[in-house]
Amino acid sequence: MKSTITALACLVAMSASAEEKVLNLYSARHYQTDEALYANFTRQTGIAINRIEAKEDELLERIRNEGAASPADIFITVDAARLAKADELGLFAPVKSKLLEQRIPAHLRSTDWFAFSTRARVIIYNKETVKSEAVRNYEDLARPALKGQVCSRSGSHPYNLSLLASIIAHQGEAKAEEWARGVVANFARQPKGGDTDQIKAVAAGECGVAISNSYYLVRLLRSDKPEDKKAMERVGIVWPDQRGHGAHINISGGGMLKTAPHKEAAVKFLEYLASDEAQAHFANGNNEWPAVASVKPANPALEGLGQFKADTLPIPLLARNAALAQKIYDRAGWK
Ligand code: FE
Repeated sequence: MKSTITALACLVAMSASAEEKVLNLYSARHYQTDEALYANFTRQTGIAINRIEAKEDELLERIRNEGAASPADIFITVDAARLAKADELGLFAPVKSKLLEQRIPAHLRSTDWFAFSTRARVIIYNKETVKSEAVRNYEDLARPALKGQVCSRSGSHPYNLSLLASIIAHQGEAKAEEWARGVVANFARQPKGGDTDQIKAVAAGECGVAISNSYYLVRLLRSDKPEDKKAMERVGIVWPDQRGHGAHINISGGGMLKTAPHKEAAVKFLEYLASDEAQAHFANGNNEWPAVASVKPANPALEGLGQFKADTLPIPLLARNAALAQKIYDRAGWK
């Protein structure tokens, strides 16, 4: 009898420890360089990562459909608007971690999720056809002087939703709508493509101005392809709103799911993402800035962009304004 109990206790202990050695990660980050990041975590902790990568909406749908039986421990994605969606659906569990509170600045986290890297939404212009003085601020993109010159991706894309969300937060709904209408009136073409397509269109002279996330620019700056090098020679980069609130900042981040079966491993993983090593990876692998201020990137192209004033608007505020931003884009005809 005694041996049976011991065997049973042994089994329970084994399954408990086996449980901690796995982490199920649902990731909407689509960067190849993230592989090394996850491999490092497994090397350090012995916790294997099962990763499911898909588009954010698919992953959210999947987590919802799986309900209480979902194997997902962590959901990571890019953009505050998307994190907000998961949060609104009540999918995240609050995480209390001294380490995360110390490492991640207050404006880059909520009680339910944490940003691990930041990117800026910058203005780019064709150096031959547009003067940098004409595009100092986001507001300038709406001025009649730039009629027929602005290229953009869709207004429904989270990157643009979050940008408008920040304008709503700073200037109110009416001003934000005025801005959106002004930009739409300046379109060189109907919105299409991603940020890289806008950069290339500006380089090709199809339009004079566009907005892009900073890491796409650094990616092209680091590219070995002659056509990318040539494109970047033609394009100027402006940090917007340097005399105002600063350049609009967005994030990549994640949180632990309410139904996470491996909560201990999940918190460990979130804490790992805030470690010096993981933070450096974000900066050097995907050309983003570390959320942890003390971590300095070793990425000459990223550092070559120089210092700038970043908007410190709390990221959860962006998330809150995302739905209104979509309504405004719809009204303004920013498809
Ligand atoms: Fe992106």
